[in-house]
Amino acid sequence: MANITVARLIFALLIAASSTVANSALVVCLDPGHPSETSSGARVGTLSENRLNWTIAKKVEAILTRDGIAVVMTKHAVHEHVTNRQRADVANKAHAAMFIRLHCDTGSGNGFTWYYPDHAGKKGGVTGPSPVICAASRRLAVSLNATMIPLLRGTLAGNPIKTDAATFVGSRQGGVLTGSIFAQVPTALIEMCYLNHARDAAIIASVRGQDAMATAIAAAIEAYLRSNA
Ligand SMILES: [Zn+2]
Repeated sequence: MANITVARLIFALLIAASSTVANSALVVCLDPGHPSETSSGARVGTLSENRLNWTIAKKVEAILTRDGIAVVMTKHAVHEHVTNRQRADVANKAHAAMFIRLHCDTGSGNGFTWYYPDHAGKKGGVTGPSPVICAASRRLAVSLNATMIPLLRGTLAGNPIKTDAATFVGSRQGGVLTGSIFAQVPTALIEMCYLNHARDAAIIASVRGQDAMATAIAAAIEAYLRSNA
């Protein structure tokens, strides 16, 4: 009798433990880029990068939530100032399955590009991310890009994935973004388009283009979660 009770207790504990793991694996941290200590975001003509990042992140949040995936946001209002370290801390505290960062680029090029950390940097007495997180971040970026390219074909071009070192901030601090240095979960950053590229700008300015981008990002996140389930 006692043995049966113990067996039942162990079984109950195992179920509780496995459901905790399953739930924590389904938390996604969405980080609408800016304003931060780096900048308030690019502005090109009437387009505000900060507002676009926010608008599209909220659309991604709505899709994921609808589909039963828990989402934590790194900020709760379009103009809320959050440092990049604080953004990573939100993802870390949530034990998020991924820390997804949304930005729009300016410069020469077009289409969307995913960036990931491939080595550690140092900031504020912290060295990171770890080799394990770097490897997981690369797998994440590869997967997200592969899902999104066909979904956005004819709308926005998909570029090959790049490392943090190819970003403006990353290139100035040892090849690693601040958010990556503090990330203890897999992380990838998307530059969704080039705001100074006329066709990209027209697409991302339209509700239809924003919906297409948000739908593609959400689908890519869900495909990654399924592949890691
Ligand atoms: Zn940005």
